[in-house]
Amino acid sequence: MAAEKKTDYDVIVIGAGPGGMTAALYASRANLSVLMLDRGIYGGNLNNTATIENYTGFKSVKGPELAEKMYQGATQFGAQYAYGTVQELNVEGDWKVLKTDMGDTFRAQAVVIATGSSQRHLGVPGEEEYGGRGVSYCAVCDGAFFRDQHVVVVGGGDSAVEEGTYLAGLASKVSILVRKDHLRAQPLLQEQAKQHDNIEFVFNTSVTAITGDDKKVQAVTTVNNQTQEKGQLQADGVFIYVGSVPMTKPFTKLGILDEHGWVKADTLMQTTQPGIFAIGDVRETPLRQVATAVGDGAIAGQQVYHYLQEKAAVND
Ligand code: NAP
Repeated sequence: MAAEKKTDYDVIVIGAGPGGMTAALYASRANLSVLMLDRGIYGGNLNNTATIENYTGFKSVKGPELAEKMYQGATQFGAQYAYGTVQELNVEGDWKVLKTDMGDTFRAQAVVIATGSSQRHLGVPGEEEYGGRGVSYCAVCDGAFFRDQHVVVVGGGDSAVEEGTYLAGLASKVSILVRKDHLRAQPLLQEQAKQHDNIEFVFNTSVTAITGDDKKVQAVTTVNNQTQEKGQLQADGVFIYVGSVPMTKPFTKLGILDEHGWVKADTLMQTTQPGIFAIGDVRETPLRQVATAVGDGAIAGQQVYHYLQEKAAVND
């Protein structure tokens, strides 16, 4: 007879990125039963990151490699991992009840929300139409398709400049289109980009449309934000890095989000819902990094333990 599937846990961590995996490590090491639920492979945005140079302990490490190492660490004390997109999180008495798109229902005494963020879309004509046919949000995943071709990167933050630099090693030319007259990216990343002769920065320029031949992208239509002059730039690929949006749709009814949709949590990672914690990129926070997510995860993993201890003491 097949073993019955376990559905009840002390803690369920939603999202198995660096923060979620750290919370799972701390909570399982404190002898709690822990399930990590993720809509994809563990690692979150690490899987879309070529190289990380600002995570302590590594001079430089590939994102997927760090994800694998974190997963080995996170599961060593019994934390489990399951596949599924959480569609609902409800509080029912003592239990937090989660429903997934796989038709599963799980229950936990405490939940850690670690769902992170996804890339913001530009919202211009042609963007959705040419998704996967030239428009991309992941240089590591799709860059190799544009070997020796001309790609456009949209954005002026850390992601645009870092991923533009990665693409410069593959493409013949990378044009980084920045809407203002300056970059927001950290100086070190700017310096690294400027070492590549095949990167050009085009300032004061917004993309108003992405065009193609119905099969694939051929160009972007632009406007100069100072002169209002319209233009067109040939492009085989368009990589969009214009910020991120929180992945918080299943939590909207809980009253724990700020006006932009990020989860509000205090310094102990507690939301206003007892037993529901939030960590990493999905949290209202001034810095979204692997290091900060890991720090949040450690605090939440420990705090979950205290929360359950106190709850058990009250019920005794
Ligand atoms: P971000 O810091 O929010 O930057 C978004 C960029 O996109 C800005 O340059 C912004 O321009 C531009 N932008 C926004 N909407 C636009 C539009 N409609 N059209 C054209 N440009 C638009 O986002 P991010 O670069 O993805 O970074 C997210 C977080 O991850 C940040 O905290 C960042 O520090 C962190 N990160 C760190 C590293 C690293 O440490 N190596 C690497 C990647 C990301 P304005 O400047 O004009 O607003």
